[in-house]
Amino acid sequence: MSQPPILNTFGLSVTAKNVVVAKTPKAVCDYFSKAIKRNEPVMVLGYGSNTLFTENFLGTVILNRIGGIITGETDESYLLHVGAGVSWHKLVEKTIARGQYGLENLALIPGSVGSAPIQNIGAYGVEFKQFVDYVDIVELATGTIITIKDGKYGYRDSIFKHQYRNGYAIVRVGLRLAKAWQPNLSYGVLKSLHRDKRTARDIFDFVCSIRQQKLPDPVIVGNGGSFFKNPLVHADLADKIRDDYPDIPIYLQPNGKVKLAAGWLIEKCGLKGYQLGGAAVHKEQALVIINKRNAAPNDIVKLASFVRQKVAEQFQVFLEPEIRFIGAEGEIDATKLLVDVAREDQSCGT
Ligand code: NAP
Repeated sequence: MSQPPILNTFGLSVTAKNVVVAKTPKAVCDYFSKAIKRNEPVMVLGYGSNTLFTENFLGTVILNRIGGIITGETDESYLLHVGAGVSWHKLVEKTIARGQYGLENLALIPGSVGSAPIQNIGAYGVEFKQFVDYVDIVELATGTIITIKDGKYGYRDSIFKHQYRNGYAIVRVGLRLAKAWQPNLSYGVLKSLHRDKRTARDIFDFVCSIRQQKLPDPVIVGNGGSFFKNPLVHADLADKIRDDYPDIPIYLQPNGKVKLAAGWLIEKCGLKGYQLGGAAVHKEQALVIINKRNAAPNDIVKLASFVRQKVAEQFQVFLEPEIRFIGAEGEIDATKLLVDVAREDQSCGT
């Protein structure tokens, strides 16, 4: 009997033994317990964005489709209680339509609301952590709901990638949007917005249009968004690179380190549009790896490994994937896989 496909924005043909849909926290826990009893691997998935399945999954994939948006308010804020299975972009659209502002810079980010806290999604100078009030998680073995007030959010990082990575699922997210709204135009490209065109709706439309120009729509061209994180390096290394590349964009961080744009480094290696098997570096934004033509998971892995190696050779900067890699039995160490693949290629002399 053929196995069901797994939803993934890379558009890869990967399957699982079972794919089930859960609309309540109890359903998520029930499916989890059944898989554990059968001694099978099990994982909870949102919409399959930011995720690379490196091979077929040998167990059950539970699609988290807990819905609902409940709105409350205080004198100062709108309070949103949102099911983890709601689409992030639909939530942003709805809030703007209702006159509840703040999320407009985070428009068009693929994925579900429940995935947003995990990597503390961010774009155009704004991060999820600025709006989160709490995150409700369920302990899958017991059904106990735990409310997390401090998600220890960092750059594409949170407590949900560490302490609460295994054995828990995010079921609801609480957001707080200030009624006294101020536009956030700190990010370079937004500064070009005309003074009379700075409503939340204007920013939302602008962000949607630039994302549509630069980033491939996963429905048309499979991809997982930014493949690598922007690296944080010591100022000495940034200075050294700047000696050879005076135009390098650098962003000083409060901790004294320097953020470099991973896409810029990849582009300077001449890899924009570079193709390997069915996978390619996106022509408009080198930070995105696309499924250009019937890519196999291994095409994406090999290309990512090659990109990482080239950037390391040219700049002595070692990129780390932002995308999470899922193997046959669960999450695997993405950086380690890319390093192993590069070693294999070198030992084969390719
Ligand atoms: P971009 O404007 O071409 O800039 C390249 C990189 O430089 C960005 O990644 C950004 O880092 C950094 N940067 C630019 N201006 C900055 C500033 N004023 N202060 C600090 N850092 C700055 O980037 P893009 O590819 O078009 O993306 C635009 C925004 O959407 C970025 O915020 C990016 O993170 C976000 N985005 C995220 C994904 C994803 O899958 N995670 C995919 C596409 C776009 P930051 O990434 O730290 O902002």
